[in-house]
Amino acid sequence: MSSSKSGSRITAQGLEKTYYRGGESLVVLDGVHLEVEAGEFLALTGPSGSGKSTMLNFIGGLDRPDAGKVIVGDTEVSALSKAGLAAWRSRNVGFVFQAFNLLPVLTALENVELPLILQPLKKSERRQQAEFALEIVGLKDRMDHRPKELSGGQEQRVAIARAIVTDPDVILADEPTGDLDRTSADQVLDIMKRLSTEHKKTIIMVTHDPAAAAYADRILCLDKGLFVEGAHS
Ligand code: ADP
Ligand code: MG
Repeated sequence: MSSSKSGSRITAQGLEKTYYRGGESLVVLDGVHLEVEAGEFLALTGPSGSGKSTMLNFIGGLDRPDAGKVIVGDTEVSALSKAGLAAWRSRNVGFVFQAFNLLPVLTALENVELPLILQPLKKSERRQQAEFALEIVGLKDRMDHRPKELSGGQEQRVAIARAIVTDPDVILADEPTGDLDRTSADQVLDIMKRLSTEHKKTIIMVTHDPAAAAYADRILCLDKGLFVEGAHS
């Protein structure tokens, strides 16, 4: 993983999203603006249902807003075709979710290698990159373990290794510590912090845990479709 890069700046302008259900409309995002500096570690908080995941999915190109623009680095993500989006995501964004989503039949190393399968790499290069990602999360000595032989915290660290193995500029994490005890959560958060400070990743982390948000450089709070004043670290 090169440390020469310095993340990607993220800009979201006027994001709007309304869901329609049974004749009712629900405005989830009401013209939201967001600027995240390259290399910044931002925590996104707010009540359940306030649109945090929706917003993160727009930024990562997993979904599209009704209106508004998302720009990550030099790419206008919101203007990419479906195929273009998939290709862009695989090179530029690492996702971490609350559920670790590791494949149970694969070892930690094989799980981390998965995102590299479609890249033109030699087997040995793939393995080397995956081992390095596992080293960053402190689990190189567990690389031959299967998920059921790991603790929840270790599983999430493997999931982080999988997210960073392609060396993306941007990490998007949605409640990454939601299922973890405090000690495991702190280990995961220490890694997120290091990905920001040492590896220069731009990070947006959704969380409703104030202790988790405190690891970030800046905290924003989403409520009723807009950003409101949040606690600052
Ligand atoms: P958060 O992550 O802040 O808890 P979400 O972004 O997941 O919030 O969801 C925001 C609101 O939009 C919630 O009320 C949720 O029920 C609703 N919502 C999310 N996805 C859909 C969908 N595909 N269809 C209808 N409503 C949805
Ligand atoms: Mg959510």
